[in-house]
Amino acid sequence: MKVLVTGGMGYIGSHTCIQLLEAGFTPVIFDNLYNSKATVNERIRLVTGQTVEFIQGDIRDKALLVKTLEQHNIDAVIHFAGLKAVGESVEKPLEYYDNNVNGTLVLVDAMRDAGVTRLVFSSSATVYGDPHTVPITEDFPTSATNPYGRSKLMVEECLTDFQLANPDWSITLLRYFNPVGSHPSGQLGEDPQGIPNNLMPFVSQVAVGRREYLSVFGDDYPTPDGTGVRDYIHVMDLADGHIAALQRVGIQSGLHIFNLGTGNGSSVLDMVKAFEQASGKSIAYKIAPRRPGDIAECWADPAKAYAELGWKATRTLQQMTEDTWRWQSENPKGYPE
Ligand code: NAD
Ligand code: UDP
Repeated sequence: MKVLVTGGMGYIGSHTCIQLLEAGFTPVIFDNLYNSKATVNERIRLVTGQTVEFIQGDIRDKALLVKTLEQHNIDAVIHFAGLKAVGESVEKPLEYYDNNVNGTLVLVDAMRDAGVTRLVFSSSATVYGDPHTVPITEDFPTSATNPYGRSKLMVEECLTDFQLANPDWSITLLRYFNPVGSHPSGQLGEDPQGIPNNLMPFVSQVAVGRREYLSVFGDDYPTPDGTGVRDYIHVMDLADGHIAALQRVGIQSGLHIFNLGTGNGSSVLDMVKAFEQASGKSIAYKIAPRRPGDIAECWADPAKAYAELGWKATRTLQQMTEDTWRWQSENPKGYPE
């Protein structure tokens, strides 16, 4: 099966390409390199021994998408491409709606023209807003508190309507919890540009001396140690979730929605401790005010994915932090140009 991977040079997309190759799929990467580097593909080749075709392009370029889908005889699309920084989305809502919402509509339109009817979309646990309770199941109410979250919710709603009108399509919405970790080889990992927004890239940059200390955003939440609790999931488990989705429901028409999480919550301080153990470095941190828009706790009920996809996360917190550290210590400045 040939799979077009939009955003395939990015963090989650690149790890998914490796697992696609391992599972016998042929990925084709479509990415505009807005938030990634082409050298990622060289790392994919180093790890797998296989070369992945890469088309540099923007998902808002319909003509290029149709041409790519047709020329490569694509059977299914995994759609990672988009912008993902919550704070930036508040500053630049138009860019977020254009890339994430308009970009997805153009992609689906191109798929329709090319006769490709299977789509897996990167959604997020952010669509649950501030959940009334945990763990979160797929039928929880959805809401959004910022333009990034709203863009994910809008896309989910557009795709739901579209699938209803086109019942022969297979559309899968995967709601990721907090992806962390890297490929165990140390060749691939998360390489944020500028100051990292997410916890683990920040922690690992403190460990290599790129940042002085971590600001822990709030220690007065109603959680066991007062810091925010999240469901951190190894990016390789997340990647495997996409393979399971393609294999199990990607061939069935319908709208399929799954949480991809571990079902376990860890606090900010749990993550700092786990990272210190994995790296042997001590992580300086200071307690800072709460970050606006953050919630106290959020973790998945992943039972539906296990029941219907036969998938569950298997990698431990220790693996997540050890793999993050291997990538960061061997590539302190991220990918080369
Ligand atoms: P990433 O920024 O590393 O990867 C996204 C890739 O898409 C980049 O390579 C970027 O260059 C490309 N891209 C962006 N806009 C594009 C466009 N218009 N046309 C073509 N390519 C474009 O991000 P990631 O962490 O790998 O996230 C992938 C997807 O998963 C995103 O949709 C994100 O919203 C979603 N997601 C991420 C997280 C997370 O914490 N990382 C959590 C939930 C959901
Ligand atoms: N966090 C923190 N300092 C940072 C970044 C994040 O204390 O520099 C906390 C944040 O408040 C939340 C958790 O770490 O409780 C995970 O945040 P992240 O941005 O990685 O993911 P989110 O769950 O917000 O999408």
